[in-house]
Amino acid sequence: MGRLEEKAAPFLPRIPAQPIGYGEAQVILKYLGGNEVPADWRGILSNVAYRYGGELLNSSSIEVKSFNRLERRDTYNVIGIMKGEIEPDRYIVFGNHRDAWSLGSVDPTSGTAAMLEITRVLGEMAKNGFRPRRTLMFCSWGAEEYGLIGSIEYVEEYVKVFGARIISYLNVDIAVQGNHTVDIKTSPLLFDIIVEASKLVPSAYDPVGKTVYDKWVDFQWNNVTNEPKIAYGLGSGSDFFGFDQLVGSSNIDATYMFDHTYYKSLSSYALYHTSYEVFAMMKNFIDPNFTAHRTMGQLMGVVALFLSETPVLQFNVSRYTIALREAMKNLKPNNPEALDPLRQAINDFGATANDFMRRSKLIDFENPFNIRAYNDQLLQLERAFLNPLGQGGDYTDFKHIVFAPAKGNQYAATGFPSVSDAVATGNSREIDSQVAIATYFVRGALSTLKEFDNFFS
Ligand SMILES: [Zn+2]
Repeated sequence: MGRLEEKAAPFLPRIPAQPIGYGEAQVILKYLGGNEVPADWRGILSNVAYRYGGELLNSSSIEVKSFNRLERRDTYNVIGIMKGEIEPDRYIVFGNHRDAWSLGSVDPTSGTAAMLEITRVLGEMAKNGFRPRRTLMFCSWGAEEYGLIGSIEYVEEYVKVFGARIISYLNVDIAVQGNHTVDIKTSPLLFDIIVEASKLVPSAYDPVGKTVYDKWVDFQWNNVTNEPKIAYGLGSGSDFFGFDQLVGSSNIDATYMFDHTYYKSLSSYALYHTSYEVFAMMKNFIDPNFTAHRTMGQLMGVVALFLSETPVLQFNVSRYTIALREAMKNLKPNNPEALDPLRQAINDFGATANDFMRRSKLIDFENPFNIRAYNDQLLQLERAFLNPLGQGGDYTDFKHIVFAPAKGNQYAATGFPSVSDAVATGNSREIDSQVAIATYFVRGALSTLKEFDNFFS
């Protein structure tokens, strides 16, 4: 198969990079010359000024010995399948990567442990006669840390199959990085299913009877909406990316977190991607009883069973209206009227979603054809947000018009990223053009929710 030469691959780094500890960084910063950087570039190391760099002070120099080398290696995806009994052509897909930066007891092995435990439990259920309604897939991806290689290659190879048949992709990468509570990023459509699942699963390190949902009431609560805080949009940081951006399924990524209110300045666990990620760290500091692992297995397992066993999918389309409005709020062009077409399309989306929900109450769900037709409409909705051209140029893989990384922030998922990038340029023609594209896709999405004989009205 034809492949780009390494020299021609635009995203491979051109300069050497060496991760270092903060102790070394502190010493280097002390010797760094140049002007001081603006306040919002400064980190939290004490007793040093953060500078742009230049000549080192006192004609000092730094010697770096790096033992990395570039070589070509094979990697493998390992896929397990449990065939569905009634709808074998609809898939719920679990996935996590197997490679690590070094030893990886948290990233990715906590996720692999949770996923394997789910397969063990389903295996026990199968011995007692259980067969899932829909097909369950379990994917152990190779080479995630090198650029999501295993999962993206697999998704690219089978993108038409997944595009037509997958229900959801459930990512369990860093399953346990703390022992406080569960933190979730998801498609808006799965919000209700996740909340229902959270009410059934015990919270780790809490008194008997306290559920994940109860813990959210205490620590992860949105007082305005009176609901748990669950983030919409996944970003690009793990193997969900291919499913989000190329397939267009409605996906979830979850992690057991440390207490954000206590460790305010930490965005992820402190030893992330270091050689200290060993079993003893997990056993001694993060999850001594492995009950956080168990909770993650139970929660993701229950979400998967809701998705695989419920004849009528419990996707809530009105959650997308809320999500679209939230995504709009972050767009602040100098001329607010530039957003009017998009605002109007979102209002129309809301009305269509309400109408869809009203009609769904009248459907005869005893008829399996009606169930399939209804479910297919739910599956089409998320896919309708994919722009085949992506964000153009080198960014054609960023296809989801609502939730994808922006060029200005490629790790997180920004709401309406191509519009927010356009707003950042301040160019009104560019803003109008990106608003028109986003409006087109929101209108396309709402047409998937209309009546079959009246989708054009
Ligand atoms: Zn990972």
